[in-house]
Amino acid sequence: MLKLDIPIEIFDEAVAQARAEAPIEACGILAGIDGTVRKLYKMTNIDKSSIHCMMDPAEQFQVVKDIRSAGLKMLAIYHSHPATPARLSAEDIRLALTPDVAYVIVSLQNADKPEVKGFLIEDGNATEVPVKVLQRSIGRGRCR
Ligand SMILES: [Zn+2]
Repeated sequence: MLKLDIPIEIFDEAVAQARAEAPIEACGILAGIDGTVRKLYKMTNIDKSSIHCMMDPAEQFQVVKDIRSAGLKMLAIYHSHPATPARLSAEDIRLALTPDVAYVIVSLQNADKPEVKGFLIEDGNATEVPVKVLQRSIGRGRCR
């Protein structure tokens, strides 16, 4: 995966979830096709931690099934950093399970301007994946 495109509606949903759950980290799964996100799944942080995110395995199993039956792929696992930058923590890298999905961080450190970054993690090494938030394009400038 070389890039991740997130429609603004989905980005807004992740930010709203992160704000609602702060100071606990919010987490979830992004599914889509060819690096473009189509669907967001909010997950429960079963550790209720403000420094890491642990997804409920049963919930995750259901989501993986749903993604498959929708003909999509799991593109990324996201979590929020309620008070720290959009950078991976040592814990994030340590807990990363798979090099096949991107790890996306939504940072609320700057409350007015949430930041998002994506990374691939393999053997303890992280490389950044460019994340683009896609603005609404349909009808812009015509319907107003
Ligand atoms: Zn983190």
